[in-house]
Amino acid sequence: MKTIGLIGGMSWESTAEYYRIINEEVRQRLGGLHSSKCILYSVDFDEIEKCQAENRWDEAGDILASAAENLERAGADFIIICTNTMHKVIDRIMARTCLPIVHIADVTAGIIKKHGIRKVGLLGTKYTMEQDFYKDQIETHQLEVLVPDLGDREKINSTIFEELCLGVIQEGSREYFKKVIERLITEGAGIILGCTEIGFLIKQEDIDIPLFDTTAIHAKGAVEMALK
Ligand code: GLU
Repeated sequence: MKTIGLIGGMSWESTAEYYRIINEEVRQRLGGLHSSKCILYSVDFDEIEKCQAENRWDEAGDILASAAENLERAGADFIIICTNTMHKVIDRIMARTCLPIVHIADVTAGIIKKHGIRKVGLLGTKYTMEQDFYKDQIETHQLEVLVPDLGDREKINSTIFEELCLGVIQEGSREYFKKVIERLITEGAGIILGCTEIGFLIKQEDIDIPLFDTTAIHAKGAVEMALK
């Protein structure tokens, strides 16, 4: 089994979920007392969030690149970045480590295509929904990406940072997310939960169209790679 290096803490709420899913997946595949070999480097999210909000992406990238170097020194075989948004700086991280990095958008697109879906709605932080780095990566897999309108993007973003990243789950926000999804997409399409905390709020049973939860998909993709 290979050792997974996790760059986490963005937020720690969702990183804890990664840890749980990775270990459950290893136990399910190998049985018995098997668990994942992994190393977690967890950052202070306050520093990262300030860099995002103040458009200091290179600085945030350098913090995560140092984390990657530490994971490499500690014996990780490959890396996952446990947030969608921070894949914006994946090139800066890759420049400072020899380890492969499993891109969250690539594994997610792979699963979507297996469902025969061609069009997806994307929910995430405003950075993920509005900038090109994430949508472009999904579109390299011949998928079409739709995002909510400006007002909804702002409200989704504030729900992520002011509630979900703080472990706050509100019924009103759940209803709101369901309405956004209904407005965004019709039959034959799917929805990417492109922020690692949205799965706390919206579950597949809440909605009729297929949901693609990037946290679960990325965590299971890491296990796939670890056991290959
Ligand atoms: N975890 C979130 C994501 O998947 C948001 C936190 C962040 O800005 O990194 O994008």
